[in-house]
Amino acid sequence: MTVLRPAIPHRATGQYGLWMGQALAAEGDPSVVELREEIAADVCIVGGGFTGLWTAIRTLELEPSARVVVLEADICGSGASGRNGGMALSWWPKLETLIERVGEEEGLRLADLSEQAIGDLEAFCAAEGVDAELRRGGWLWTATSRAQLGAWEGAAEAAERRGRRPFERVSAQELRERTGSPAHLGGVFEASAATVQPARLARGLRRVAIERGARVLERSPMLELDRESGRVRTPHGAVTAGSIVLATNAWLAGVPELRRAVVPLSSDVIATAPMAEQISRSGWTGGESLSNSRLMVHYYRTTDDGRIVFGRGGGGLGVLGRFGDRFDYARRRAASIERDLALLVPAARDVPVAAAWGGAVDRSSDGLPFFGRLRGRAPIHYGAGFSGNGVAPSLIAGRVLGSLALGRDDEWSGCGLAGGIPGRFPPEPVRFLGGVVVREAVRRKELREDRGASVDGMTLRIAALAPSGFFKVSKGEHPEEARQGEPAGSPGGPVGDGGA
Ligand SMILES: Cc1cc2nc3c(=O)[nH]c(=O)nc-3n(C[C@H](O)[C@H](O)[C@H](O)COP(=O)(O)OP(=O)(O)OC[C@H]3O[C@@H](n4cnc5c(N)ncnc54)[C@H](O)[C@@H]3O)c2cc1C
Repeated sequence: MTVLRPAIPHRATGQYGLWMGQALAAEGDPSVVELREEIAADVCIVGGGFTGLWTAIRTLELEPSARVVVLEADICGSGASGRNGGMALSWWPKLETLIERVGEEEGLRLADLSEQAIGDLEAFCAAEGVDAELRRGGWLWTATSRAQLGAWEGAAEAAERRGRRPFERVSAQELRERTGSPAHLGGVFEASAATVQPARLARGLRRVAIERGARVLERSPMLELDRESGRVRTPHGAVTAGSIVLATNAWLAGVPELRRAVVPLSSDVIATAPMAEQISRSGWTGGESLSNSRLMVHYYRTTDDGRIVFGRGGGGLGVLGRFGDRFDYARRRAASIERDLALLVPAARDVPVAAAWGGAVDRSSDGLPFFGRLRGRAPIHYGAGFSGNGVAPSLIAGRVLGSLALGRDDEWSGCGLAGGIPGRFPPEPVRFLGGVVVREAVRRKELREDRGASVDGMTLRIAALAPSGFFKVSKGEHPEEARQGEPAGSPGGPVGDGGA
């Protein structure tokens, strides 16, 4: 197919969530410039989230005179980047999967880099005056049911065998003291993690990209992409570029070659009203973010203005790579997350929920991102598959895509994750229908485990198919793109990822 016509996001609900409301209010009246002409560029980046904006900044760092254009369908940060839990995490929890994908040495190098990326993010915000409310309070990865106990051991031992000690074991008693909640039965602490106000980070990246010379054009969705000429058409204009980068997250599932590489999943979030006093009384004052070890993971953190932001992964599943505005907000999912919040964070029990929203997660077959090039004469590169862990890793994505876009042969373009699609999910409608069945089994299983109840054998067997069992990857179907190894079958990302 020469001309690509991707699904584009539409924001009928206008539900950006709490973070973006705060970020836009701080900016005053941000101007939106649409593409209304036919222009030429050296690099055209489609998607104005973390990935696209870091790519623009990196490209201009490497080649300050390059003509860089960013096309964003809505406003920068309106996708997952402005909606997420704001937990900046490393790839240490995925070390074993990383090594399976890219090998021993490269896996360890990338895990080290992912930890460094959090420090780089901190340094960037300080240097550029981006007030993303970054706080390095670390991350607690815990068990909130007996079934989850020890979920971190594989990752911790894998790191320890290689001379790294990113995780420190934490007892139930200490967890209770640090979080004010008796819900945690055990866990580990990773000190390098941070929290950010993600929309303020996305909008800050937009500002820096513009200051460095990028043309950032918003409300300018790519409607068509000609793979031969490198021409990107928008409703009122077009960009013809020497190099194109697709940084459209879960919307990449609309590209034919990538349809089976990414499953769009929803992740849903609520934010309480300010409750600084209750948080302080509960003892949760160290700024730690938390995830438990469910597949439909709960992830939560405190905010600068004294709220708790609390999310759960894996509520909705995209069909045929499309999800419209269904992931922006769902009243039913928000109500059940509110019940989960009360169970896991007693301090929030009598505090009203002030906002609820959701967003799209781009689940890859092994839960790690991948980068590659599409077929066609024009150099069109893509990066996706963060699987719920993209706040810090998108900085690495920007380096990889910046080098790929400029045709550089370096440690970034040659990194292990830049080998194209790592694995494929089954085709539709099998994927969607099977996914719904598996997701329901996971939901049932985890609800019963949360209550300490037994789970029947059939439910266990079906739930065990998630995420990669059911979604068995067919290797070798497209030899030019098939990559090393089966999917790891590891749990999903520590945030925003439901796996089923
Ligand atoms: C609810 C939720 C919670 C999460 N929590 C965390 C967390 O706590 N920590 C963490 O590390 N990760 C988290 N994630 C994942 C993280 O947000 C993402 O991995 C990261 O933001 C991905 O950035 P991106 O730029 O690739 O995608 P996005 O921010 O989604 O950007 C893609 C952009 O492309 C635009 N676009 C799509 N199609 C087109 C088109 N045709 N033309 C032009 N533009 C287009 C979209 O409008 C969008 O702005 C979460 C995700 C969600 C949804």
